[in-house]
Amino acid sequence: MALDTSIAVSQENPFEIAQHQFDIAADMLNLQQDLRDTLRSCMRELIVSFPVGMDDGSVRVLRGYRIQHNIARGPAKGGIRYSPNVSLDEVRALSMWMTWKCAVVNIPFGGAKGGVICDPKSMSIGELERLTRRYTTEISILIGPEKDIPAPDMNTSPQVMAWIMDTYSMHVGYSVPAVVTGKPLSIGGSEGRTEATGRGCLFTIRQALKHLGLQIQKCTAAVQGFGNVGATAASLLHLDGCKVVALSDSRGGIYNPAGIDPRQVVRFKAETGSVVGFPGTKPVSNAELLELPCDILVPAAMESQITSVNAGRIKAKIVAEGANGPVTPDADRKLIEKGIFVIPDILANAGGVTVSYFEWVQDLQSFFWSEEEINARLERIINRAFQDTLAMSTSRSVDMRTAAYLLAVSRVAEATRVRGRYP
Ligand code: NAD
Repeated sequence: MALDTSIAVSQENPFEIAQHQFDIAADMLNLQQDLRDTLRSCMRELIVSFPVGMDDGSVRVLRGYRIQHNIARGPAKGGIRYSPNVSLDEVRALSMWMTWKCAVVNIPFGGAKGGVICDPKSMSIGELERLTRRYTTEISILIGPEKDIPAPDMNTSPQVMAWIMDTYSMHVGYSVPAVVTGKPLSIGGSEGRTEATGRGCLFTIRQALKHLGLQIQKCTAAVQGFGNVGATAASLLHLDGCKVVALSDSRGGIYNPAGIDPRQVVRFKAETGSVVGFPGTKPVSNAELLELPCDILVPAAMESQITSVNAGRIKAKIVAEGANGPVTPDADRKLIEKGIFVIPDILANAGGVTVSYFEWVQDLQSFFWSEEEINARLERIINRAFQDTLAMSTSRSVDMRTAAYLLAVSRVAEATRVRGRYP
């Protein structure tokens, strides 16, 4: 069964999409009305406006958000993004997706997300640091190692996490590494965290290929977005013997049907600022990249990239959602009708939050694990989550996204039910 889009659902508003996805699972699970109403909304929404001193002496007042969707299974967890396009509904949707993501991989966290409306690319390091320290101060009424643990997302780096950790620690008067994950190693970061989302994505692709009886060495892949997730996923696919034929970033894409070594593109992008112009490749637009002939398509840039307009032209056998919400509900139905195996975002990109969980556990224990241990534990968790989702998909005759939602929503609903209602 595909997602039922017969009722009018916004194809653009991410929160309406997230609620619609939830409604389908809630209907199938016969969730009682009070549970449904609880889980359909975000439990806490903090909107902040704060001044940031710019290098030229001027002051800019920026708006930021920190939203906790649900904490029934543990402290809230979720990234912070800096972008001119951040909106309240985007952050709400992302926080809800975090709840389901943590539940689908069965780690003891709820869901949260944060964002600041800004143009980080036009800001200096000093301006970014002042922005981060003030935003951290504003949201410090919500965050904390037992309450809500931020992490990196679009345009927020390990350095930004270090400033968050330092600001919070300065407020309480002692070092609190466990308040944030995705930190540099030198202050309690975890081995393997930087690559974790892309690596988790690779593990789900390997499982999907096995399920479909395909060999990775005979497959081609196209990856949209060449940041933390996309560059890692592309490099690891290449190392597994997959031919990566196309890559892109916000400035455009590159294509070579004979294959591209993503590790060389990482170096090229570090020097030039973009993948565009990489020697031996043809330029393609981001829209064209999605429609190229390939076996594996990894949208790893942003939301709503595959829509009802282009879904019919997608040629891949597997779509692994590296980004959050890259496929709209209408498009999802079309992909499933075409027999494309979609690995939903809450499973395909859950590697990041899984290693964030490891980082938090290590920080709380002040006892650190090797990269081999991290990657082995990550693989076990992702493979188990994939198999749990596949089993649900088979037993309920539903697509992988609906199956992942059924698994996740039932886990969160059970935790909420068994805790009871307060007061
Ligand atoms: P990033 O900032 O490191 O990289 C984003 C990439 O996308 C960049 O290469 C950028 O140039 C490109 N991009 C931006 N706008 C684009 C556009 N319009 N068309 C094509 N490319 C565009 O971000 P990231 O951390 O890799 O996150 C990418 C996606 O993955 C986001 O949806 C994020 O929420 C999701 N995600 C990230 C993590 C993580 O651990 N970093 C975990 C889970 C999900």
